[in-house]
Formats: sequence, C-alpha cells, structure tokens
Amino acid sequence: MVHQCARHCRFIPVIESIRQTTEALEAAQLHPLAAKSAQSHGRPGAEALEATPCPIRTVFQRDRDRILHCKAFRRLSHKTQVFISPAGDHYRTRLTHTLEVAQIARTIARALRLNEDLTEAIALGHDLGHPPFGHSGEAVLDELYDGGFHHEAYSVRIVTVLEPLNLTLETLEGMGDQLSQERPRTLEAQVVKLADRMTYLNHDVEDAIRAGLMTEEDIEKEIRQLLGQTRTQRLDTLILDLVTQTQQAMAQNLLELRQTPEIEHAMMRLRKWMFQQIYLSPAQTVQHGHVKRVLTGLYEHFVAHPALLPVHFQPEAYPGAQPTIEQAVVDFIAGMTDRYAIETYQQQLLPRPYISKRDQSLNG
Ligand code: MG
Repeated sequence: MVHQCARHCRFIPVIESIRQTTEALEAAQLHPLAAKSAQSHGRPGAEALEATPCPIRTVFQRDRDRILHCKAFRRLSHKTQVFISPAGDHYRTRLTHTLEVAQIARTIARALRLNEDLTEAIALGHDLGHPPFGHSGEAVLDELYDGGFHHEAYSVRIVTVLEPLNLTLETLEGMGDQLSQERPRTLEAQVVKLADRMTYLNHDVEDAIRAGLMTEEDIEKEIRQLLGQTRTQRLDTLILDLVTQTQQAMAQNLLELRQTPEIEHAMMRLRKWMFQQIYLSPAQTVQHGHVKRVLTGLYEHFVAHPALLPVHFQPEAYPGAQPTIEQAVVDFIAGMTDRYAIETYQQQLLPRPYISKRDQSLNG
C-alpha cells in the first residue's frame, strides 16, 4: 500500500506497514507491563488522533526525534552539570549527562523488555528545563520567583508552551514525573528516574576526581566493597541488581522497579556523601554566591525593564494565555546557557567603556 505522508513528503510512496510491523513486534515481544506505542493515550494538542501518522516511526520514536531536534536540547551543551563552565573538555555538561542517562536507561529498558523508544524519549527530555548553572541556578530561581521553580516542571513548560513539540501523554508525564515523590506511572519513566540517579552519582565522582576534589579512596570502604572500586564496576553492580530484582517483581505483575535493599542503601549513602563533600562543598558555595548575584541581577533588571526582553518573550507574543512579566522573565533566564547568562549580565548590568563614534571609526 502506498502511504501519503502529509505535509513534507506527500508524493513519496512509502510502504505503510513499517510502523505497523514495529507496533506488532512491540505487542509480541515486549513485556505485558511495557508501554505499547499502538496503545498510546495520544497527543494532547492538535494531533490528538495522530491524524498524520508517520509511515515509518511509532509515536514514541517521533517524540524522541522531536526532542532531539529542538533548540532546548542543543542548549544543554552549554549548561552546567556540576562544574560551572568547566575549562577542561572532559567534564560532563548537561548534554553529555543526558546522553549517558539515555544510554543507561535504554540498556535497562531493553533488558526488562520495556519500551526502549519511550524510555529514550523521556531520558532525552528529562533535563531540558535545567536553568544555567545547574542546581545553584535552580535554587536561586526558586527563591526569586513567587511561583517557585523546578527544572522538571520547566522541562514540560518548554515542550508544551515555549517550543511546543506536541509529545504523547506518556512522554510528557514521564518528563514531569521526574519531579514527583510518587512512583511514575509507567515503568519506562521509573527507569529514567533511577538511571538518572545512577548516572549522575557515578559520573560526578569521576569528574570530582578529575577536578582534584576527592579520590576513589575517599568513598567509604563499605560502599566500595558493595558497589565496586571504579565507576564502571559500580554502574555494572547497580544495573545488574536493578534488572534482576525488577524482573522478579514484573513476573509477579508488579509495576515497580526493585533493588536489593543493601545495594539501594549503599547507593543512597554514596549520594548523601556526594552532597556533603562535593555538591555543597565550600568551593561550590563560593560559586553559588556568584550565581546568585548574576541571576538575581538579571531577574530584577528584566522585571524592571520588560521592554528589554527579546520579542518572543514579550507576554503578548505568547501563543496562548499571557504570562505575568515575572513568568516571562523566568522563561527567558531559565532557557539561558551558562555563557549566555554571563554575557547578558555583562552587557546589561556592568559598565562598559565609552567608545566615541570617532574611536569606533578609527578602530573599524
Ligand atoms: Mg538528570
């Protein structure tokens, strides 16, 4: 059968059954508890009924591609993971963190016969809403803005309001669920939530060692004995334990991930230690002061002078309900990369040397 794909490729004949074959394979091969793309609850926007289904890709594969191609995803390359604008090329950024989460989450999803495409879509989108300067930036915006600021909720705001991607409800919920204290509804979203924790804990240890802030031996001996001596060993232990424990839970029809209690406890102890020694260390506290000064300066400046906001962040330019000035300013600042925030601060809030027209022409 020839499929007429709407809009872009109207006259290219495509065998319609490619997507349907994938959907049939999902039904036959995935675990009964896995999310199936053919049973998606659909898109909340104009394509609610998938009026123009892709002849090749399932709805979750389309979500993954929409996220990968959006501007917010590209900005992750210049957003902080832990170390602000690191000078070394080997430190993680928010983009490389996201790619590592996606890979680990896919490995777990495939091992458990869950929907790998949905898992990948949620993982690629899970940190889209991170503001500049990582968790320091998030804490400052949360303090400044009356409505509060959480990067998970902002990830959803980006893909629904600021750069609408019209994602399926499963992907959207999975991205939003990362904030909730409750267990996410799909196993795929649960996988991303835990993969995120396993990933950042282990790569942040590696980056902190590179930065000279710690050595492997600083990690409690008992944690190393249980989880492993290196990043690779620790990840292997955590992933293998999660997969084997969860397989047993899924065999009993339980929609929840499982870890061996001792392994989970060791992981949480490592997390606590990282918070005390690295994330909230004196070096990071000094940086937090700088971040607070920059973001507070930007926030107060643009709230006082909203006309200076870029055209598409002017409240009347929003496609749906008009935001308050404060919300529009948060939208603008939260979307910034670290370097753009610093540049904007310098441009807007620091004195610049006066250059006369005569000097400009001489220099030009
Ligand atoms: Mg993350």
